[in-house]
Amino acid sequence: MARYTEAACRQCRREGTKLYLKGERCYAKDKCAFGKRPTPPGGAPKRRAKLSEYGLQLREKQKVKRIYGVLEKQFRHYFDVAEKQQGITGENLLALLETRLDNAVYRMGMGQSRKEARQLVLHGHFLVNGAKVNVASYQLKAGDVISVADKSKKSAKFKEVVESTENRAIVPWLEADLEKLSGKVIGKPSREDIDIEIAEHLIVELYSK
Ligand code: SF4
Repeated sequence: MARYTEAACRQCRREGTKLYLKGERCYAKDKCAFGKRPTPPGGAPKRRAKLSEYGLQLREKQKVKRIYGVLEKQFRHYFDVAEKQQGITGENLLALLETRLDNAVYRMGMGQSRKEARQLVLHGHFLVNGAKVNVASYQLKAGDVISVADKSKKSAKFKEVVESTENRAIVPWLEADLEKLSGKVIGKPSREDIDIEIAEHLIVELYSK
């Protein structure tokens, strides 16, 4: 499977913002590499060059792709779907990314980072409505019940994950029960529910050229 290989913290420094790629470490001020050194990697100058309009649009797209761990072809597919849906394209795009199974697992606190959540899904640890789903991009809808497979519930991995994420705030469109290792999609994520600084209109402008 194609994936980003650049070290996580370098990606944050390259994008000039925290992308939250390493789980709980990202929330600890003294452990976050971007917090300590918010300059581009590779000995680049401390002041970032002023970007053109196109450059800003491109960077915003890159940033969102990195946050959700999605490559260009799939990202473009999400945009095409978002454009055909009713409502605001940029918000539809973010809602599609949020309702990926791997992201929901992360948001429920059953993965420390989106990357770890994806690995856990790919390894077959999760069920949706009682059936095994090992596709990270599986698109969830309201009413879907997500749970950890019985055989995985006792694994030390989930104990470790849940202990580290138990204080994480749950997003309004999901319910989660970390004791039972299950959760439910209770609605579509609204723009206000997505707590990441994203200027999605820049991505819409980019693809609309
Ligand atoms: Fe980015 Fe900081 Fe997390 Fe590293 S620790 S991935 S720099 S947010």
